[in-house]
Amino acid sequence: MSAPDTPPGIEPLPGLVDAHAHAWSRAFDGDRAVMLARAWSAGLRLIVEVGVDVSTSLGALQLARRAPRVVAVAGLHPHEARHLEREREALAALVGGGGFVGIGEIGLDFYRNFSPPEAQYAAFRWQLALAREHALPVVVHSRAADAETFEVLEEWSRRVGRYLGREREIGMLHCFAGDVALAARYVELGFLISVPGTVTYPSNTRGQEVACTIPLEAMTLETDCPYLTPVPRRGERNEPAYVAHTARYVAGLRGIAAERVAQTTGQNALRLFGVRAPERPGSRR
Ligand SMILES: [Zn+2]
Repeated sequence: MSAPDTPPGIEPLPGLVDAHAHAWSRAFDGDRAVMLARAWSAGLRLIVEVGVDVSTSLGALQLARRAPRVVAVAGLHPHEARHLEREREALAALVGGGGFVGIGEIGLDFYRNFSPPEAQYAAFRWQLALAREHALPVVVHSRAADAETFEVLEEWSRRVGRYLGREREIGMLHCFAGDVALAARYVELGFLISVPGTVTYPSNTRGQEVACTIPLEAMTLETDCPYLTPVPRRGERNEPAYVAHTARYVAGLRGIAAERVAQTTGQNALRLFGVRAPERPGSRR
């Protein structure tokens, strides 16, 4: 039986984790509490809230402090990299204050180039060092920069090794848009591959091949809400509950039970971020 606030069409899938969300976004200012309640009704046991600069990272932390099953990640997005000098001290202090489970989203975006490439490289490298310093995993954004991002992460991972322990990955490629071969190389380096709702779009055959081929133990699922809404909600605002649609779609692609996709990808996210979530998924606290 689903709770009254479960959106129509969502059958709960216990164990799910939305591994990359922006619930601090103004898009949720009118109904944030109701939206979060829908996520718990859909079976989510954790939402990973990711910042794009100091103020949104603080917003993510504040949300995490209010909601027991929300955790926060702090970082400067490649779009904001040109503001590194302005943000650096405050970001270091914010992370140093504790409470975050990762550094992100960081990386390279040569599609929009809102910040010059040199500024993006500088912010990316500085934050990789910050992650190592605080023993936190990284959440990586890479767009139109497949080769460049891989080069930076390969060099970095060779230097730092499995600094979070043998069993634990050192980061995730959020909204992974590369091909199967690139995904395999990242998995080898110790990264998880995060599959977004766009995998459900009929034209996204590359994303579907990745979601079908990579080991389930190397996969997380995410919404990147309020963006990238999966079918059947495509065109609407995205929200964490809809990660259930993505899980069912991936299960269909792989020909396995949706419950297994939810449980395994959820466990992967918990392991990456070093989070122990409540035993009773869906319970209200
Ligand atoms: Zn994002």
